[in-house]
Amino acid sequence: MSNPLPIRIVGIDLGTTNSLIAVAKDGVPQILADPETGETLLPSVVFFPADGSAPLVGTPAKAHLLTDPARTVYSAKRLMGKGYADAQGEAANLSYALSPDRADVATIKLGDLGENQITAPEVAAHILRTLKDRAEAVLGEPVSKAVITVPAYFNDAQRQATKDAGEIAGLEVVRIVNEPTAASLAYGLQNKKSATIAVYDLGGGTFDVSLLRLEEGVFDVLATGGDTHLGGDDFDDALANHLLMGMNEAAPPAELRAAFRVAAEGAKRHLSDALKFDTHIHLPNGDTAVQTVTRETFESLIAPLIERTLAPCRTALKDAGLTAADIDEVVLVGGSTRVPAVRDAVAKLFGKAPHTGVNPDEVVALGAAVQADILASGRTDLLLLDVTPLSLGIETAGGATEKLLFRNAKIPSSAKEEFTTSVDGQTVVLLHVVQGEREMAADNRSLARIELRGIAPMPAGLPQIEVTFFLDMNGILRVSATEKRSGAQTDVRVKPTYGLADGEVRRMVRESFVNADADFKARMLADMGNEADAAIAGATKLLTGYGDAIATAERETVEAALSRLQAVRNTATDHAQVREAMDALDNAGRGLAEVAMSSVARSIVGGKTLDEARRVLDERLKEARPDDGG
Ligand code: AMP
Repeated sequence: MSNPLPIRIVGIDLGTTNSLIAVAKDGVPQILADPETGETLLPSVVFFPADGSAPLVGTPAKAHLLTDPARTVYSAKRLMGKGYADAQGEAANLSYALSPDRADVATIKLGDLGENQITAPEVAAHILRTLKDRAEAVLGEPVSKAVITVPAYFNDAQRQATKDAGEIAGLEVVRIVNEPTAASLAYGLQNKKSATIAVYDLGGGTFDVSLLRLEEGVFDVLATGGDTHLGGDDFDDALANHLLMGMNEAAPPAELRAAFRVAAEGAKRHLSDALKFDTHIHLPNGDTAVQTVTRETFESLIAPLIERTLAPCRTALKDAGLTAADIDEVVLVGGSTRVPAVRDAVAKLFGKAPHTGVNPDEVVALGAAVQADILASGRTDLLLLDVTPLSLGIETAGGATEKLLFRNAKIPSSAKEEFTTSVDGQTVVLLHVVQGEREMAADNRSLARIELRGIAPMPAGLPQIEVTFFLDMNGILRVSATEKRSGAQTDVRVKPTYGLADGEVRRMVRESFVNADADFKARMLADMGNEADAAIAGATKLLTGYGDAIATAERETVEAALSRLQAVRNTATDHAQVREAMDALDNAGRGLAEVAMSSVARSIVGGKTLDEARRVLDERLKEARPDDGG
């Protein structure tokens, strides 16, 4: 497959712990190693020297983790697309500090004085830039386009932050791809007609499970789950604690613990191949202690940790409405899936031997390169689709959420809906875009507030505001609004100001179930409130225009019903109370409405047919009382 155009697109796995870059050569993806060191994994660590000199990235930066913790940024991926408040949960586990100066984007304070500040996308950009430089050195040509992978659960803010990082690094991010989808591509699963795939990803510090459905070259995420703080590091801790018991140290100092952790990590790796290992622990006092560990002991130490990964797998199956028997393919990702006990547990759970042929550290980057190659070759037969994790909608006048795109809608997708104004002569409409499953907008996550200006002044209910949501390939939302009568238009890319905390998506979905009843009631009340407002406005208009044309007693009855509705509208706790007051006003105002109608009819009927007159009358009435049918 020789390509006449030199548009090479690289694939990048931007990981929490390590990052990799790969490119397809003649259709075969391969990892690009650092030409100087031969290393393929680039540790996702950036050290920012106090003297302001160029940051160090990767292994040289890692050396500063212990000596300069406040200036050495690791796990920046955990902060991507998050605001200060959202990042608090993560901040507790990090050795560097966050600055409270900015609420919209988590900002890292570098150094004890916090004299310099940096955001997660900027840190990620240093990593991406290093990988780009590496690729250019190896390939001997400029690299300007990339496919970057993200976890399947990343929301639009996190995806956008990843795209931003690419742009800062001088890379055009042609596609954001889900990590489990990339792993499946590395195994060539896209060539199957259809399959249900489980991707089990156990890295150093995170665990993710994703269930995918592949159908005619289209990958759907059916369910995701995991634990953002569970991985190989916990295996190291378990083994280190076990080894420390042999030392009879009641409260081992940090330095000693660190030495044991390093030894434990090494022993763990050996025990993936050997049944027994003599662990050499280099103690801070210069001595070396030797302890023998068997695979059996190690496996008994990590058994509870492995068990903890199985619960999210079972939940994901349940969420997707599947049983283990429905899974056709199991793909392993992450260095910790090299542990034989992990493989065995996964095989047992899904009743199927997992794919193991591709290096689990490289599988995601290789898959990203496959996707990049597909894009570079212009093949359109492989459209890789995902779904949106939460519904997207607009806040209506009463504070309810009008969903345009529903949870699990395919990406890309678009939806259109017409709205109108609630106040006469309104020339500006504020559209509040929200994300979430709850009925009331205030309970959902606010994504953006958009103003549509320049609407010609019209009676309430007459403007036709068409709102279009377009969710692109990367899960980024574009909102456009047009007022059809006056042509006023606005178009924005919704770039959320802050991200969701991990697990937040699941929490939001769960809450929508828990609160379903109360939400439904609140929504009915809000919708009825809107109808009541329209009825109040209509009746007030009719009273002003035609009140003198009816008997005083009748007018007073209408006025009383109107005041009652106004009062009930503001105090009701149940929509039925509002409905009842509206019906009462309707009944009381029947005579007034008839007078108004015949008066309007007389003034316009002229030489027209009755049908024509009725049509014009309908229009007029619509002006007097906005349509409350929708
Ligand atoms: P990742 O985040 O995917 O790079 O995974 C790194 C994790 O895999 C670390 O916890 C490593 O200690 C672990 N790991 C790497 N190689 C092995 C191995 N041969 N056996 C067990 N764990 C390993």
